[in-house]
Amino acid sequence: MHLDDARFDTRAIHAGQEFDPTTGAVIPPVYLTSTYVQDGIGGLRGGYEYSRGGNPTRTALETQLAALEGGIRGLSFASGLAAEDALLRTVLAPGDHVVIGNDVYGGTHRLVRRIFGAWGVRHTTVDTSDLDAVRDAIELGTTKVLWVETPSNPLMKISDVAALAELGDEAGLLVVVDNTFASPALQQPIGLGADVVVHSTTKYLGGHSDVVGGGLVFAAGQEELAEQVGFTQFAAGAVSSPFDAFLTSRGIKTLGIRMQRHSRNALAIARRLEEHPGIEHVYYPGLESHPGHALAARQMSEYGGMLSISVAGGGAAARRFAESTRLFQLAESLGGVESLVNYPSEMTHASVRGTEAEVPESIVRLSVGIEDVDDLLADIDEALARL
Ligand SMILES: *Cc1c(COP(=O)(O)O)cnc(C)c1O
Repeated sequence: MHLDDARFDTRAIHAGQEFDPTTGAVIPPVYLTSTYVQDGIGGLRGGYEYSRGGNPTRTALETQLAALEGGIRGLSFASGLAAEDALLRTVLAPGDHVVIGNDVYGGTHRLVRRIFGAWGVRHTTVDTSDLDAVRDAIELGTTKVLWVETPSNPLMKISDVAALAELGDEAGLLVVVDNTFASPALQQPIGLGADVVVHSTTKYLGGHSDVVGGGLVFAAGQEELAEQVGFTQFAAGAVSSPFDAFLTSRGIKTLGIRMQRHSRNALAIARRLEEHPGIEHVYYPGLESHPGHALAARQMSEYGGMLSISVAGGGAAARRFAESTRLFQLAESLGGVESLVNYPSEMTHASVRGTEAEVPESIVRLSVGIEDVDDLLADIDEALARL
């Protein structure tokens, strides 16, 4: 059995994770080193010279990331935003234009608007689930990047990756998909035609809320870009530390079974919330009532652990709900084994208030963990009773 032919869960456990040839240790060591002895000047062992340029623990994670997403190369960074920044600054120049989804991660929107905006890069924010709107927003020759997030954050809109990839190809631009919410266990954008996949590995890939990191994976045909972004990673230096890379690799090994449980729990909770009179709307692609359900069923294997609700009493009731749960802890971030509740308009999405990407005050976002679902449902019921 060759690893290249292995299925997803097998690759998640074995890609880049060969045992240590010196000791036989099943788990490759964590190479906590900044530099490497040379056998004579320039005589590098395994190509390693200095850990900003390369570190075996990071290489192991990068190999694992590429294997998970079906790409030709993975790169690992100190955070998701560091990964996004390295990619965008490699691809863009002043005067270029970016088309970006209107409910992408708030920090991504802020990066494009404030950091790249100040550098002379323009952007247009569109609903990427509306293909005509995307087509209209593309400025032929000037638009260099189409940035897609599906499911989106926090409204869980589903965008058609295959159709957007085709549109991007026709326009000669780079189609980037932020696959943080679905994770490669549920959705593989490169297989659908995306050029680059972005991750905040802080979330489902790490999976235990104990590490901040980011990753990029490049599709076949993007070898040259991968090389250039690899140079930016080395030259600008926002690399992941060896220990962070180790924690992320360790988390990835259980990604498949975690995502199954996240999805199952989230679906049960979405159904419960959908029936409750205090909830105006449930945004979860696994529900038949979700406008993107059929598309999600095509491009995802399950629907993931993220859902949002619109609370009937508006902002005040939404805040009260977010502050009332006990098992669902009030915190930013998502994708860990423990359940979290977030109030986007004042927490994760505070940076986009007053912009086109603003989130309504009635919205509460849940990151459903892998606890016993009956305990999670009881927690939700108790919080709803206080509305
Ligand atoms: C968290 C997140 C990011 C940013 O990643 P960091 O690791 O926090 O820098 C990007 N995209 C999505 C969808 C996220 O959830």
